[in-house]
Amino acid sequence: MKQLALLLTAFVFGFQSNRTVEWAPVPEPAKTPKNIILMIGDGMGLAQITAGMYAQKEGLTLERFPATGLIKTHSAKHLITDSAAGATAFACGCKTYNGAIGMTAQKKPCYTILEEAEAFGLATGMVTTSSITHATPASFIAHARDRTYMEEIAAYFLKTDIDLFIGGGMRYFVARATDKRNLSQELIDKGYAVGDILQQPLAQYTPLDPKRPFAWFSAVKEPESVEKGRDYLPLASRLAPEFLARRSDKGFFLMIEGAQIDWACHGNKDTMAVQEMLDFDKAIGEVLRFAEQDGNTLVIVTADHETGGMALLRGSDKQSLKIKFTTDYHTAALVPVFAFGPGAEQFNGLYDNTDIYFKMRALFHFPATEAK
Ligand code: MG
Ligand code: ZN
Repeated sequence: MKQLALLLTAFVFGFQSNRTVEWAPVPEPAKTPKNIILMIGDGMGLAQITAGMYAQKEGLTLERFPATGLIKTHSAKHLITDSAAGATAFACGCKTYNGAIGMTAQKKPCYTILEEAEAFGLATGMVTTSSITHATPASFIAHARDRTYMEEIAAYFLKTDIDLFIGGGMRYFVARATDKRNLSQELIDKGYAVGDILQQPLAQYTPLDPKRPFAWFSAVKEPESVEKGRDYLPLASRLAPEFLARRSDKGFFLMIEGAQIDWACHGNKDTMAVQEMLDFDKAIGEVLRFAEQDGNTLVIVTADHETGGMALLRGSDKQSLKIKFTTDYHTAALVPVFAFGPGAEQFNGLYDNTDIYFKMRALFHFPATEAK
């Protein structure tokens, strides 16, 4: 009897419930990106962004991002992180000790999102204004107990099939003290087009030949700030996505770092901090243009930590900012996240730096794998 009543109810109300379906908002199919570009402004806190924004009349590219969040940057044991632990959190999704390059807190190598992307047939690349073996890029490709093991880190560039890398630090590839390997030659033997930042301007390589992986770095040292040869970040940020999109039809993972916002703030150099911020924002502009046209690219812009405890003081106006620093090291302040493209809404809110990894990984739909 009960069953009959239920059946009758279903029959009577069935028609109505069909109508309800018509009115119900149809959820958008969950959009996932084919490509992810993670941009890290090293040391880029809210004050650095604010200073850049007011220093530039037309405002920042960052203002065009629809989703914003905040992240907690602390490392495993320290409230104040460093760039190695900060980048390892993004690369592997684990909080680790300061100085760790792609290593867990237990000093075990952790599989990075770049290595995983590589394994699933995506194209991969990294661009930085520091040495390519420096803590931030290193944490995506290498596994070293300490960030200072530069030659050990450089050797990892031969262990993966990274499609593109641009930055300083060729000296860790050639003239090596630990072994007599010439990694630059080994890259050439592997098929890479290898160039020297200070000898051949990047523009000389345009468009990049998608048939060969590309390594372009500086032989002497990482070009600093406004020095000759240091104007490559925006151009590299334009060329890299176009190049990587042609290297694999499965998609790509690209990390781009504005490394010297951090250095400027360590040195308490306000003018340099603003210049570096604006240079990084120009790079963001190039990436955003690609993402807008492509439609399948998620762009995430964030920072590993704030540097300098930077403050904009009373007496500032838009034309002249009064900037003070409260430290020559990093601080524990939350740093922002900006996201654009399919999956961007996932990056709203306040969460841990390690969640950047988990969100990226989920959006890439990588199947569960054992860490290698
Ligand atoms: Mg860095
Ligand atoms: Zn730093």
